[in-house]
Amino acid sequence: MTTFDERIERAANFVRTAKRIVAFTGAGISTESGISDFRSPGGVWDRYRIVTYQEFLASREAREGYWKMKKELYVEIAGAQPNRAHHSLAELERMGKLTCLITQNIDGLHQEAGSRAVIEIHGTNRKAICVRCGKQWPIAEIQSILESGNYDPRCDQCSGFIKPATISFGQAMPEREMTLAYECAMGCDLFFMIGSSLQVEPAASLPRVAKRSGADLVFVNRTETPYDHMASVLFRESAGHVLDEIVRALQRDPLPTRRDQQIGL
Ligand SMILES: [Zn+2]
Repeated sequence: MTTFDERIERAANFVRTAKRIVAFTGAGISTESGISDFRSPGGVWDRYRIVTYQEFLASREAREGYWKMKKELYVEIAGAQPNRAHHSLAELERMGKLTCLITQNIDGLHQEAGSRAVIEIHGTNRKAICVRCGKQWPIAEIQSILESGNYDPRCDQCSGFIKPATISFGQAMPEREMTLAYECAMGCDLFFMIGSSLQVEPAASLPRVAKRSGADLVFVNRTETPYDHMASVLFRESAGHVLDEIVRALQRDPLPTRRDQQIGL
């Protein structure tokens, strides 16, 4: 068992020597920003029935129930601020270290922290989209419609149903984003996984794809995942703390240490 400092140094050294670094984030990175993991007990998903995409299209009652849940979630997401983990990933990108950031999260906190190369494979809660013509709105505009008591908002252009720009249960994963995500995972030599229990496909296959392509894996997650054995460095500590320490180590010492070069890390 290695100490926390040793694991930080090991992870930092992977970052120092890597040419293409990809990060993949899940709900666990945003819990420190006060956004509840939808799988955790007592979360919004416990109090509302899951509405599939097909139900959303077919039933007004389902749409109204779905928008009521989203109206409640809005308050949580609109008030949330990026935490140290989001800021550290944005800093890694600014340092020219991070080539792409794949996220399962729909909260938009990576962009708010300053990250640019973000691939949102589950879409975003910050926008709404007409399911018929594709017109988009900032979510705040739809929120004010909901607050006026209308829970079945329609497109002013084509009368189509308006839906948050997230990927719902029963809805296909976005093709462009998934292709990009797999290309990133296949082309990287270091893969950070932060805050996902890796239970859900296709996201769970991204670290496997990276590993098969020869990348080293660094996992930062509170609980164990089915792929922990593949990780070169494993953290159970807070994502904010871990990423902050890695960035500090890089700022202190940007170049690989000689000892690590010799042993081929
Ligand atoms: Zn429309």
